[in-house]
Amino acid sequence: MRASQFFISTLKEAPADADIVSQKLMLRAGFIRKVAAGVYNWMPMGLRSLRKVESIVREEMNCAGAIEIVMPVVQPAGLWQETGRFDGMGDELLRFKDRHERDFVIQPTSEEVVTDIARNELKSYRALPKNFYQIQTKFRDERRPRFGVMRGREFTMKDAYSFDRSAEAAGVSYDTMYAAYCRIFDRLGLTYRAVAADTGAIGGDRSHEFQVIADTGEDAIVYCPNSDYAANIELAEAVAPAGERAAAAEALTKVHTPGVKTIADLVRFLNIDIKATVKALVVEGEEGDAVLMLVRGDHELNEVKAEKIAGIKKPLTMATPALINKAFGANPGSLGPVGFNGRIIADRTVAKMADFVIGANEDDQHYTGANFVRDCVEPEVADLRNVVVGDASPDGKGELAIQRGIEVGHVFYLGTKYSKAMDATFLDEDGKPKHFEMGCYGIGVTRILGAAIEQNFDDKGMIWPDSIAPFSVVICPVGYDRSEAVKATADQLYGELLAAGVDVIIDDRGERPGAMFADWELIGAPHRVTIGDRGLKEGKLEYQHRRDSEATAVAPADILPLLL
Ligand code: ATP
Ligand code: MG
Ligand code: MG
Ligand code: MG
Repeated sequence: MRASQFFISTLKEAPADADIVSQKLMLRAGFIRKVAAGVYNWMPMGLRSLRKVESIVREEMNCAGAIEIVMPVVQPAGLWQETGRFDGMGDELLRFKDRHERDFVIQPTSEEVVTDIARNELKSYRALPKNFYQIQTKFRDERRPRFGVMRGREFTMKDAYSFDRSAEAAGVSYDTMYAAYCRIFDRLGLTYRAVAADTGAIGGDRSHEFQVIADTGEDAIVYCPNSDYAANIELAEAVAPAGERAAAAEALTKVHTPGVKTIADLVRFLNIDIKATVKALVVEGEEGDAVLMLVRGDHELNEVKAEKIAGIKKPLTMATPALINKAFGANPGSLGPVGFNGRIIADRTVAKMADFVIGANEDDQHYTGANFVRDCVEPEVADLRNVVVGDASPDGKGELAIQRGIEVGHVFYLGTKYSKAMDATFLDEDGKPKHFEMGCYGIGVTRILGAAIEQNFDDKGMIWPDSIAPFSVVICPVGYDRSEAVKATADQLYGELLAAGVDVIIDDRGERPGAMFADWELIGAPHRVTIGDRGLKEGKLEYQHRRDSEATAVAPADILPLLL
């Protein structure tokens, strides 16, 4: 590629509404341009990286035996009514009517359509197993689209769906996808963890999220540094004696809650959706600590109310149902008396039950005398406890630690949830119809770009791994339009790299060296070759990896082997 024929559009400053590094850099480097909240143009530079992510995902999915299809972005409501999700999914599902007043949705995921394919096409056990996948546009009307492509409303997902004869066979499909995901994220050059995730109504232990480790992540992960144990915090269990928890909770507060002062901070920190079942209240504690209260109720807490509540500055020492009633203007239902002192303890039960306070510590229990986790929640989760830094990990191999993560992938065993709802069956060997055992497997293709940048940047810009860089090599001739020698050497190297299949761009725009280097540092091309008259006189070119602090002089004959 010749830069003069390509489209490079860099900005000195990021737009004011950009919050995190990846978003700022993607905007500055001209990877994306915002069209509406959570909706972006993929500009030529960004699209190159996006396509590379897609190819890696596609290659590994194909290798794992999955079969590519494309399902429509616009889907008829009828299928979604069969599973109850047309009404049940809530506001993230974008619904609309066509000219005949027929209901449609824009797909946020595709279980319904793919299950419809299976019930029409996969008639016999002989056709199984099958795993269909697509790399396709999704739309979720996220309550808070933010962080650029990380939480967009329109985004690209790779979603795969497996169909099997039995739960056992579905387990094999699940493991195959899990392994493929590891290969994908390895090839993408990301530091990630596969963590046990919530299986919700399905139950069982077959759900894992692939989390890219980054401070800006919206999820919290509990892990044991000495073993494989890792779980999304909403799921994590710990076995530390209760008495040790107060100190550990304090550690968690210190490490992980600075800056949690508003509902928005909190929602970001815990990755919760206030509008669904969880309601949140944040007030300022005596020492500026945030206090978080979650209650479950039947009333929607709208954002206006949340903002008003977040404005409460008076330190509170105890929250009673009456107080909560007052604050939320709603009866909190199953909530019992709860107390808090400014500490935040993340707990599975919050996500599952969402009916009591996070923030109580052991000291607060003397008003009820209750262990607020054990006694205030419903019996089936009563054995689950708060997880805090320093708790023993369930496998007994060490203490738990917490990291922030970005969910880039999710594998999920679905069982017969969708096949039963849509009565999707195949004829088994005994001639009887059986419901498909299903799994679903998502990857946030566009989110991956943001996540990769969150892990790889410096004060000059992005630093791409070779596998997904928009260009892996940039040739920067100094004086391309002035020096015959520079032009000839640069053109020759460019031709040789192209012939060798290297993804190279030559910057023939005639920019001044400073501006040219700044652009490529911002864009993050991993390998740069600089060619100038001065070096050529000494028989040298300059090579610099994006992570190197200085360039290295290299003889022209040595540059090609270095880059291949
Ligand atoms: P999150 O917890 O971040 O809202 P999710 O659990 O709702 O994600 P899934 O339904 O598991 O998402 O979808 C599969 C993948 O799609 C996720 O792992 C994530 O990488 C990606 N994804 C989900 N929502 C978005 C979004 N709004 N913008 C970009 N990518 C997304
Ligand atoms: Mg979501
Ligand atoms: Mg999630
Ligand atoms: Mg998920």
